[in-house]
Amino acid sequence: MQNLYTALFLLLASGVQAQELTSGITPSNLDLSTSPCENFYQYAAGGWMKANPMPETESRWGSFNKLAKQNDEKIKVILDKLAQSSSPVAKGSSAQLVGDFYRSALDTATLDRLGIKPVQPYLAKIDALKDKKDLMKLLGELRPAGFGGFFSFYVGLDAKNSQMNIVNLGQGGLGLPDRDYYLKTDAPSLDIQKAYKAYISRLFVLAGIPNGAAAAADKVFELEKQLAQASMSRVERRDPDKTYNKFTKAAFSQDASLGALNWQAFFEAAKVPDFSELVVGQVDFIKALQPLITQSSLADLKNYLKWSVLNSSAGTLNSTFEKAQFGFYQTTLSGTTVMKPRWERAVNLTNGSLGEVLGQLFVAEHFSKDAKAKVSEMVEHLRFAFKMRIEALDWMSETTKAEALVKLAAFEYKIGYPDKWKDYSKVDIRADRLYENVLNTRRHGFAEMLAKIGQPVDKTEWGMTPQTVNAYYSPSRNEIVFPAGILQPPFYDPNAEDAVNYGGIGAVIGHEFSHGFDDKGSKYDASGNLSNWWTEEDRQQFEARTGKIVAQFNGYEVLEGININGSLTQGENIADLAGLTMAYYAYIHAKEGQDINLKVEGYTWQQRFFLGWAQVWAQNISEKELRKRIITDSHSPGEYRVRGPLANMPEFWEAWGCSTGQGMVAPEAVQVKIW
Ligand SMILES: [Zn+2]
Repeated sequence: MQNLYTALFLLLASGVQAQELTSGITPSNLDLSTSPCENFYQYAAGGWMKANPMPETESRWGSFNKLAKQNDEKIKVILDKLAQSSSPVAKGSSAQLVGDFYRSALDTATLDRLGIKPVQPYLAKIDALKDKKDLMKLLGELRPAGFGGFFSFYVGLDAKNSQMNIVNLGQGGLGLPDRDYYLKTDAPSLDIQKAYKAYISRLFVLAGIPNGAAAAADKVFELEKQLAQASMSRVERRDPDKTYNKFTKAAFSQDASLGALNWQAFFEAAKVPDFSELVVGQVDFIKALQPLITQSSLADLKNYLKWSVLNSSAGTLNSTFEKAQFGFYQTTLSGTTVMKPRWERAVNLTNGSLGEVLGQLFVAEHFSKDAKAKVSEMVEHLRFAFKMRIEALDWMSETTKAEALVKLAAFEYKIGYPDKWKDYSKVDIRADRLYENVLNTRRHGFAEMLAKIGQPVDKTEWGMTPQTVNAYYSPSRNEIVFPAGILQPPFYDPNAEDAVNYGGIGAVIGHEFSHGFDDKGSKYDASGNLSNWWTEEDRQQFEARTGKIVAQFNGYEVLEGININGSLTQGENIADLAGLTMAYYAYIHAKEGQDINLKVEGYTWQQRFFLGWAQVWAQNISEKELRKRIITDSHSPGEYRVRGPLANMPEFWEAWGCSTGQGMVAPEAVQVKIW
């Protein structure tokens, strides 16, 4: 209330009239030949899609990607200045770290001169393996540099004791984006398998292992296929109860099938400090490793390890390796035909290795405190709207509601950038050796991760860099996070009247809040622990509703014979529907006592709100990228993030005067309303 009063006062005192704000809508982005009630995505984004054909360096091109590219261009300006500067910088300073890293990424002459040389010590190490019994030791030695495959190993929050960090083991080791790629037998999948084998074989040849490269590649594929068969699907992994299997280290080691491999040798070689408990994400997968290794020949195991080194290195070697990797992952899998320019790849590499260092420099120049204040205010309006909605639910008992409200009140949020930056000052980065620079940052990250074992969780830590165009919810921390990178148009436009911003960043805030109450997030309590706070009956009521959203999205055919996976995407679809609903009512709450019924540039506030959401998702996408995302992405394609949730919203129908029978009006029997 205090804030509202102050804002109103300033507005009048400075003589600024609300009407001077724009609508935030660009009319040319619309396709007025389409009815908003038949296909709102086409109506709201049709003009944009036509005016923004996909560049040949991309596989998906949306307003989202355009913003990310603008951030990259800003980063390029920062990096160019550093890389071209001749004034001395202190070793370990931010300027030295990112300046020299970027230089090393631009130095293609050195990369071409070195060729395969940087990788050879690792290949030699693998060649030196004489006996399978030393395999786990070797895997432990390779792991800090990011090599070795076979399984995942990391330190993260303990889902049932979220204040503490714990060791995790789980499935991993695949070179294709998902287990399905190995198991499906339709023609496009078989083509991809064939191209993948050819790519493995190509890297073997480039690495100087030409004899029998094709046969070796087939064996690598077969080994990965076995890992895929033992893996849990993405849908199964959505259930946090299934992926939480805690063991004492002693019980794990003594279990005849779980502890069959020499894990102790792995932990020692990777310099993992002693620990007492661990969580196994996929028990059956870990059990399957030992028989798989026993049945594979030493030569095949070594080829698999070499492959893991080569594939993980190809992007930071000479142009021949880089092109081979691009050809498979970008062209075959995603449909991109042309590589991004070197500067952009160099920015991406620097971002990937030293993102937080770069983030400090980015926010110093490109972050507005006003945006932070504004978004913080919006977060609280969203929280209020969510509270009202929970209290008014007719399907939830008072007991569960009370718990839900406790959780809602406990949500923490972070906006912009971390209060405490990670320390990279000890990482050795030099201007003429990209490969070692990348491995040094990996080793640094690995050591940093190991230092967390048995330690309390650092609450200040961020899971994304500030320049990222994205946002997230962490169920174990019960927090929502909005990096500086997303606080710009089309998500947030400081010159626009608020309605479009509530449809943009407001709905994104609501979306992240809602993840705390989706199929997965709802299993975590206010303190971030995996612990049930629902009555049995309320859970059934909830699942009856989420089941409807699964069915709704299962029904969308995106390519001939390919439908959205409603189960895989249900968390995101729930979050979109709930987030939009909360943001809609948060806007009304935020504007209490003000006249919001004035049109701006011809649009009502409701129309601006929904257009705000749609313009965020305007995009063009290649067919291959779409195919890939249907398998791997838990988000529905942009078009259905607009059409899907809005078809369930009476608020939307009212805004555009839609009626039963039109495309954007879900029939009553299948309509979804959850929160
Ligand atoms: Zn989400």
